[in-house]
Amino acid sequence: MKNIHKIAVIPGDGIGPEVIREGVKVLQKIAEWDERLQFQFDFFPWGCEYYVRHGKMMADDGMEQLQSFDAIYLGAVGYPGVPDHVSLWDLLLKIRKRFDQYVNLRPIKLLQGAPCPLRDVRREDIDMLFIRENSEGEYAGAGDWLFKGKPEEVVLQTGVFSRKGTERIIRYAYETARKTGKTLTSVSKGNALNYSMVFWDQVFEEIGKEYPDVQTYSYLVDAASMYMINQPKRFQIVVTSNLFGDILTDLGAALAGGLGLAAGANINPERIYPSMFEPIHGSAPDIAGQGIANPLAAIWSASQMLEFLGYEEWAHVVLEATEQVLKEQKALTPDLGGTASTSEAGDEVVLKMTEII
Ligand code: ATP
Ligand code: MG
Repeated sequence: MKNIHKIAVIPGDGIGPEVIREGVKVLQKIAEWDERLQFQFDFFPWGCEYYVRHGKMMADDGMEQLQSFDAIYLGAVGYPGVPDHVSLWDLLLKIRKRFDQYVNLRPIKLLQGAPCPLRDVRREDIDMLFIRENSEGEYAGAGDWLFKGKPEEVVLQTGVFSRKGTERIIRYAYETARKTGKTLTSVSKGNALNYSMVFWDQVFEEIGKEYPDVQTYSYLVDAASMYMINQPKRFQIVVTSNLFGDILTDLGAALAGGLGLAAGANINPERIYPSMFEPIHGSAPDIAGQGIANPLAAIWSASQMLEFLGYEEWAHVVLEATEQVLKEQKALTPDLGGTASTSEAGDEVVLKMTEII
């Protein structure tokens, strides 16, 4: 009996389709090798090019179409001339919101051979998993604009931290720490944000009582930014708010090899709705169409998808193969100092996988 997994693929714009092709290639190979599993890929041509032709980012019943899938695999959306608030809000954020993908998982792991701007850093010192709140907080879109254009003009941007929203992300983080036996660090700013972050710290402590086995730390976001550079090994599992997570994971991406290696997952832990896996880089119009985009971030997101679907061994094989490719420095794309094309880099990952299994 085969497990058939239905994957909705949204290659998107720019380098999106180029890198997603390589991720699909890796997944297809695994399905060839593993008789237990099979993927059914359905492709959706949505994004900014679709917007230019149809005046919308996706089909009207797009969300209904996606709902029945086990996972969504997304490239990137964005296009010069299409405002970010359209491309972002009418596709990416719409999916995250409607499918209640309130956990944003971003591994910050320095693979051997990946470039790191820090001197004298050991590979194992940078091995974190960021768990970023993905549904509310500073990005809730709440606020006001008073006396617009007048001398007394005042602009308010309100962070929204509900008990439900805060508890569920922090609980998810504790569960992850317990399962993996790793330490858990909360990043907040209770000394300055005297409502939201005081509440965050309180919930972190309350829920912690149910997890006496988990070793915890709590840092202010400013201190955390410093430690990520000068003592990165302090961090294992990290839980933080939407804004802080956004900023710190870009910092983390820079530590662990750059945008071409940064993967992300948007998870609905209850599995009521599909979760979405994507490289965190954008459509990179400057290099689109040249076949030189780095596919390793997209492949890493495919590895996250495998883990989520219950194939941890395969997730591991993909990551190990990626590391081998980086270590050998033979088939790297230009952003990593090589001369390989996108598909050559993808082929090399597949080749390394055959050597590992
Ligand atoms: P968008 O508007 O869709 O966010 P962007 O121009 O902001 O696109 P990003 O993808 O966010 O571009 O990344 C910024 C730059 O980093 C790109 O212009 C590109 O040069 C480089 N870059 C990003 N991703 C990759 C990749 N996978 N491979 C190689 N270079 C990349
Ligand atoms: Mg961008």
